[in-house]
Amino acid sequence: MKLTEVLNQVQNQNKALLAANFYNLETCKGIVKASSKLNQPIILQLTPGSISYMGLKTAVSIARNVPIEENALTYLHLDHCNDIVLVKSCLDEGFDSIMIDASDKNIDDNILITRQVVKLAESYKVNVEAELGYVPKPNNEIENDKFTEPADVKRFTEETGITSLAIAIGSKHGFYKGEPKLDIVRLKEIRKITNAYLVLHGASGIPADILREAISNGITKVNVATDTKDLFMKSLKDIMKNSDDIDLRNVFPLAINEIQKMIEQKIKIVSMID
Ligand SMILES: [Zn+2]
Repeated sequence: MKLTEVLNQVQNQNKALLAANFYNLETCKGIVKASSKLNQPIILQLTPGSISYMGLKTAVSIARNVPIEENALTYLHLDHCNDIVLVKSCLDEGFDSIMIDASDKNIDDNILITRQVVKLAESYKVNVEAELGYVPKPNNEIENDKFTEPADVKRFTEETGITSLAIAIGSKHGFYKGEPKLDIVRLKEIRKITNAYLVLHGASGIPADILREAISNGITKVNVATDTKDLFMKSLKDIMKNSDDIDLRNVFPLAINEIQKMIEQKIKIVSMID
């Protein structure tokens, strides 16, 4: 089944699909093992930074082969890309989904750039995601208040032709300082205006009940990245405190197991499994 069909299915069921960023073989394994155990599809995501770290061919090979070995249904997505050349390379590598992120531009430029990428991706028949409004990034919080304006949504989705829309309703990338709050009223308004699959970025650290409220009101794709990085590194530090083992093949599986457990929790939340 194509990713857009899966997204359509979960949207109709008022559920969401989990999209988890991976950074190396180990984090990919943890994510994929969770998907396999619960028998739920998942989106594996690569940022341009992770692609430059692993190399595109290596990253794609990990994302394609780990699910085969773990018997899981996964899709591959390019996350937060503002480089059209990299978008093209990923499309040629067979990505199921790509995000063009021109959210730091004004709406006219955002539309122009996004439309160009939609055109480029047309013949590949993949999911194309763009961001309207601005979900704060850890190193760039100056535009903290740029929530998605419902009044812009119709024009943006129609003029670009995207299939998925990342919206700014109070979530942020990185760690939250206080309790995260989402603007559910705004979300409901946006959902009435468009049938595009609505994407919530920065879901790490958002409590389960708030995530489920957002999903019940129209979020179809939930992105998790910070939790994976944080948990993987914390687990390794904890393990190494009590161990002198230099055999990383003994050490890493313990951290992989922690990632698996955390991702299982997230899949249960977004799939409305108790
Ligand atoms: Zn994001």
